[in-house]
Amino acid sequence: MGAYKTVTIRKGREAFYKNRHPWIFSGAIEILPKIEPGEICRVVLSDGACVGYGYFNPKCDLVGRMLTWQEESPEAVVKRKLLSAITCRSNLFGMHPKAAVRLINAEADGLPGLIVDMYGRSIVVQISTYGMERLKTVLVQELCEKIQPEWIYEKSTSPSRMHEGLVPVEQTLYGTEPANVIIEEGGIKHYIPIRTGQKSGFFIDQRDMRELVGKLSYNKRVLNCFSYTGGFSLAAMKGGARHVTSVDYSNEAIALLQKNIELNGLHSVSHDEKIVDAFEFLRENSLEYDLIILDPPAFTKSKKDTKQAERGYREINFQVFKKAAPNTLLITSSCSYFFTEDNLRTVLFQAARTAAREVTILSKHRNALDHGESLFAPVGGYLKSFVLYIR
Ligand code: SAH
Repeated sequence: MGAYKTVTIRKGREAFYKNRHPWIFSGAIEILPKIEPGEICRVVLSDGACVGYGYFNPKCDLVGRMLTWQEESPEAVVKRKLLSAITCRSNLFGMHPKAAVRLINAEADGLPGLIVDMYGRSIVVQISTYGMERLKTVLVQELCEKIQPEWIYEKSTSPSRMHEGLVPVEQTLYGTEPANVIIEEGGIKHYIPIRTGQKSGFFIDQRDMRELVGKLSYNKRVLNCFSYTGGFSLAAMKGGARHVTSVDYSNEAIALLQKNIELNGLHSVSHDEKIVDAFEFLRENSLEYDLIILDPPAFTKSKKDTKQAERGYREINFQVFKKAAPNTLLITSSCSYFFTEDNLRTVLFQAARTAAREVTILSKHRNALDHGESLFAPVGGYLKSFVLYIR
């Protein structure tokens, strides 16, 4: 192995290694050599035993993230883990050439600081750490070799980059941008607004719920709040909904939803779109629907704002409980990392109690299969959905 500087773990702080948790906080380090931000170092215990390699950023309290627990070069790590991630997704989905797939989900795929989403032959890379930034060249080479993409676009805009000393970056890393990026899922096509849309362009993580909405929508009146480009609306229409109402305050999102309806030849299905604040819509309308979907954006991005998030989730669910006719189905989600499944369940309970409705939990769901969570680093699971029956 080449010349790597050595980071020594403090005596008594070996637990991270025994537990294979990839994160190293500054308090666990005895000796941090003088390094560049994101530099890869050899990690040794206080007795000198080498435990592997990780990247380090002296600017951060979460100073290091392990890349490997064995003797291998960083290039070899990226190659091995990318191949493993591709194999995993092929096993899961068979890699349809027009599929929307999360190829790499950070710690879950052993590559902290990196998210890679694949939309057919277009790839979106999101980098949130300095260490991963330094591995970008080898990553792009490997993606080109293994996937032969048409376009690789970097959309590294996560606020956490600031703590790492990185600025937001949006740029083409390889190839040419196609005129349109269109994926296909469950027989439905979607335009993916990679540059201008939310996240990497699409909510891949809700794949299973879209399928469920398709199954539940036959002959129903469906309300889809926070519709974005209509992931759930299209699933409902394709599933035979009698009528679909989509609510989103973004003109651009609704415009793309309309294009998606055309793209799928679904214009004959009864549909109306409301470009309004969803809170207002829920407060001011009678909500005569058979299936209601509430999939809002993250109401909190930090631990300290969970109270405010609680109010938001309570309010939208309360309005539904208060007004929905008996026998209405509600699919309600939260994608706030700091708002747990228990938090959501509590808020739903409070809202139903205040509305004095009988509500049954039919099922609970998490992120789709390509958004796994490391068994060793329980970080990353953020999306939870409840399917409820309002009596
Ligand atoms: N449910 C969507 C993803 C939601 S993304 C899907 O399955 O694809 C969040 C969406 O909520 C964005 O399109 C954003 O424009 C919209 N939004 C955020 N706050 C809103 C509000 N108060 N009222 C209406 N729309 C809102």
